[in-house]
Amino acid sequence: MRTPLIAGNWKMHGSRAGIGRLLTDIRAQIDPNGRAELLVVPPFPYLDLVASQLDGVPVAFGAQDVSAHAEGAYTGEVSAAMLADCGCTHVLVGHSERRTLHGESDESVAAKFMAAQAAGLCPVLCVGETLAERDQDRTEEVVQRQVGRVLKEAGIAAFSRAVVAYEPVWAIGTGRTASPVQAQAVHAVIRAQLQAEDATIGGQVRILYGGSVKPDNAAEILAREDIDGGLIGGASLQADSFMAIYRAANQVC
Ligand code: PEP
Repeated sequence: MRTPLIAGNWKMHGSRAGIGRLLTDIRAQIDPNGRAELLVVPPFPYLDLVASQLDGVPVAFGAQDVSAHAEGAYTGEVSAAMLADCGCTHVLVGHSERRTLHGESDESVAAKFMAAQAAGLCPVLCVGETLAERDQDRTEEVVQRQVGRVLKEAGIAAFSRAVVAYEPVWAIGTGRTASPVQAQAVHAVIRAQLQAEDATIGGQVRILYGGSVKPDNAAEILAREDIDGGLIGGASLQADSFMAIYRAANQVC
């Protein structure tokens, strides 16, 4: 049985005071008997603050991006070793906002994935199709290409230390969600692709759904067989909505 993971991507939001309050409220709502794991993903400048506030608290934290390079003259970039040094355990790679706004290719996402693992971080590999690609019936082809590039570069064994997040681009921050049936269908495609390489690893890898998950739609999405949690943007910025999704995961997963 895969342990559900509820991850909050705070994107470029927050302040020291706001994140401090958010973490206080999250901490107060952790269920000591809950099965779901929690992960928060703040902007880089707040990693130290998050590390100190989560010391001894069963909530992991990570970063939203990472350099593919280990060290050197890459102004503005942050290496995986630096993130690990700050206490991160996870890092998002290939979030659609990185792919579309910052021109990240499948190749650079694969390089970031491997750089993360080389430093001991668990990459959260984000994949998903645009609305135009879905309308052209190309969803499977797109997500298989995105996952396939990482498989080709890193190999299937790497997926025993990774999480995949399926995030249809048209559902991120738009209020539109993939229906549970649509989401499950794509999750099953991704799992089958990984299981074709290694049945055990493919069966164990956690595949999160992301795209306008809210407290009122979380339970029916998270109840699906191949959906092992959520990557939550907007609803993770308020402890009450984020933790309502966490409670839904504890109930249905
Ligand atoms: C995200 O940022 O990855 C995301 C899924 O955002 P939202 O929940 O706001 O759609």
